[in-house]
Amino acid sequence: MKQVSALDVANLQLEKALERMDLDENTKNQLRKTEKVLTVSIPVKMDNGQVNVFTGFRAQYNTARGPAKGGVRYHPQVCFDEVKALAAWMTWKCAVVDLPYGGGKGGIICNPKELSEGELERLSRRFIYEISSIIGPNKDIPAPDVYTNPKVMGWYIDTYNMLNGEAAFACITGKPVDLWGSKGRVEATASGVVQTVLLSLNYLDIIAEDATVVIQGFGNAGSYIAKFLHDKGLRIIGVSDSKGGVYNSNGLDPIALNQHKKETGTVNTYKRNGTEKITNDDLLKLECDILVPAALEEVINGSNAKDVKAKIIAEAANGPTTPEADEILKEKGIFVIPDILANAGGVVVSYFEWVQNLNGYFWSEEKVHLRLKARMEKAFNEVLHIAQKEETDNRTAAYICAVNKVAQAMKFRGIWP
Ligand code: NAD
Repeated sequence: MKQVSALDVANLQLEKALERMDLDENTKNQLRKTEKVLTVSIPVKMDNGQVNVFTGFRAQYNTARGPAKGGVRYHPQVCFDEVKALAAWMTWKCAVVDLPYGGGKGGIICNPKELSEGELERLSRRFIYEISSIIGPNKDIPAPDVYTNPKVMGWYIDTYNMLNGEAAFACITGKPVDLWGSKGRVEATASGVVQTVLLSLNYLDIIAEDATVVIQGFGNAGSYIAKFLHDKGLRIIGVSDSKGGVYNSNGLDPIALNQHKKETGTVNTYKRNGTEKITNDDLLKLECDILVPAALEEVINGSNAKDVKAKIIAEAANGPTTPEADEILKEKGIFVIPDILANAGGVVVSYFEWVQNLNGYFWSEEKVHLRLKARMEKAFNEVLHIAQKEETDNRTAAYICAVNKVAQAMKFRGIWP
């Protein structure tokens, strides 16, 4: 298996699309570059009196179509290149679903599970202070990602407002609803993934009620995907988190699993109705109709892609499939719903939150869901249409769709000065 970084993956995916596109070399060169990455040191007074200095990043990949948009990840393995890759994916994702945004991403190298709530708050506030010169409602709008949540977004927006002497809320999305977050934001990524899964089942003539599902990652995205697909009558036969997974061919109850995870910190010890343990590696190789990677990057790669038995892969996570694996999955005829399409629901509702904050006028949950559904369906059909016309895979089609929009914006803006 070739070892590739998330940035290699993002670059290779872009090149594959550029090869098929009629763009001049100058434009292609600009599209290949990250506009800006800010690296910051974040000193935090720990509870024991010691000062730990954490490292954080904020990347803005391309802002031709609008302010940078993207989450902030707290993880021990976050690095400069990963944040750049994630910011690139955000650029293409926002373009696929036609949002007036560019792409950004942030990260802090830390293990949030080892921090007290006070340490986490001080870390979060100081991070926003350190990147405050490059963020703002019309510059760059952070949001949650792995191991960050609405509570962290509450600290972010308070810090931003304190620094600016304002009571403005459009600079951060994914906030608690009581602090002008949008209704429907918490479950939006999952809603979007489920929408694309249902459209794919319909396209492939698979009856939803007969379909089986395996989900890797049982966090914000994965747990809601399990619940929503279960509600639609699909059978969830395997799920996992960072500590390992569980399998039950008769089906798992997502509500009971969620409760178990809340009580014990993992799904791995869930035992009801003959449920067995399974490793994260074996989970990906289970016989099923739909496999949903909803954790981290590159989990489907050159070493295990040949063993994947799903008919559909719905990429809730960003960058879960390497280009080497993509080739193998294509040979096997597996229908991949690429990340920049499948998981775009989160940023779509973040956009709705931004619009509501700018207007100070708020929508019902029903309105949020209907508008999200319409946008996901339009993007899904557009990508499928390009895939058929260009006789290419869904990922390359999604890239062609997105890169074209970004290139057009760049063309009309020209180069300053
Ligand atoms: P989260 O922190 O809520 O959950 C992550 C889950 O992954 C946890 O259950 C964790 O235990 C599990 N996990 C971590 N390492 C693992 C491993 N090695 N094997 C198996 N499971 C592992 O994060 P989230 O918000 O649900 O994000 C998950 C993925 O979805 C990420 O790739 C993220 O970028 C992507 N995503 C999230 C959103 C969003 O709005 N939350 C939007 C778009 C994309």
